[in-house]
Amino acid sequence: MLKGSFPVGEFAGMRTPFYYYDMPLLRRTLAEVTAQASRHPDYHVHYAIKANFNPVILRTISAAGLGADCVSGEEIKVALASGFKADGIVYSGVGKSDAEISFALGAGISRFNVESSAELEVIAEIAAGMGLKAPVSLRVNPDVGAHTHANITTGLAENKFGINYEQLEGVIRLALSLPSIDYKGLHFHIGSQILDMMDFVALCNRINQLAVSIRGLGLPLGDINVGGGLGINYQHPNHLDIAGFEAYFATFRKHLVLPRGTAVHFELGRSIVAPCGSLICRVLYVKEGTTRKFAIVDGSMTELIRPALYKAYHRVENISSDEPEEIYDVVGPVCESSDVFVKATAIDRCHRGDFMAIRSAGAYGESMASNYNCRPFPESFYWEGKATADPRPE
Ligand SMILES: *Cc1c(COP(=O)(O)O)cnc(C)c1O
Repeated sequence: MLKGSFPVGEFAGMRTPFYYYDMPLLRRTLAEVTAQASRHPDYHVHYAIKANFNPVILRTISAAGLGADCVSGEEIKVALASGFKADGIVYSGVGKSDAEISFALGAGISRFNVESSAELEVIAEIAAGMGLKAPVSLRVNPDVGAHTHANITTGLAENKFGINYEQLEGVIRLALSLPSIDYKGLHFHIGSQILDMMDFVALCNRINQLAVSIRGLGLPLGDINVGGGLGINYQHPNHLDIAGFEAYFATFRKHLVLPRGTAVHFELGRSIVAPCGSLICRVLYVKEGTTRKFAIVDGSMTELIRPALYKAYHRVENISSDEPEEIYDVVGPVCESSDVFVKATAIDRCHRGDFMAIRSAGAYGESMASNYNCRPFPESFYWEGKATADPRPE
């Protein structure tokens, strides 16, 4: 079977399971994102810290000049410690605590993405108490459904995120009336792992309509943050190792019609970091069940919860074996029936001790790891590779 190339010989000293990061791939990805975004003079990209807050990954991303999108006070601290500038940090989330708000104000972040009038009033009060003006965008619930897993859509009327259309005018007027609030614009985010560009076209159309009606009311539009959500190809990591940034930004250039000079912000997480990471495990046992064969590995849902949580697919490759394929369920040791990486999948014949690579695990992998069953957090291995020419010249 077609497999990624891994420096298996260098894994001998590593405690499995561990995260493997292909740093040249991350750098090529960052070069592609910045090249495609810069085809529009008003586009700015923020990296969504929650996708992966490994400090080595964060420093590589901040060095590429991206801003940061944070969803907690601790993420803001981690972003600042990893070289992201306060004036490139935006802060989202439906439940910001008073302590987080004070910290973010004190740090001088560039934007609060505010999700309710109740939150707006609390930010105004805390900012006034600190003698500061809080820069605020209002997160709109655009009621746009993304064609993705139900647990990762965020832009539907039934989701907890954002302010609905009926209330928006009132909240904009409230923001403009509060002396400690600096009203800056609108924020959107419709979900994650979106591969159908028509979902982003729908978002652009909503924003265009809203821009017209807001200006019709004589209110300022400010700038626009379209959120993140661009998906990656989990099926074919060896063919498609960089997300479709070209088509993504082209979709916004074509369909988002805003007055010249309106800044447009993007918050991309998964598409930047997912492909560069793999979870490396070892096979502990091969077990014949009644109806199926199991490859029991030492990695589990505590290192990578996406299959258990979202029924997400990750390609699994046996990177030690070149023997003919057999059909396996690849499962972990945790005491949950959902601790399964893949079911009934063709994988090169497995033996105790073989290294298995669970691919495309750089996003929402390490960052969602837990200590369940008292399992330790995984370590990381950063592959610097050999200097190779960029295979995708402009
Ligand atoms: C999670 C999140 C993102 C990033 O989403 P991806 O699908 O990883 O690109 C962006 N913006 C907000 C507000 C988020 O919550």
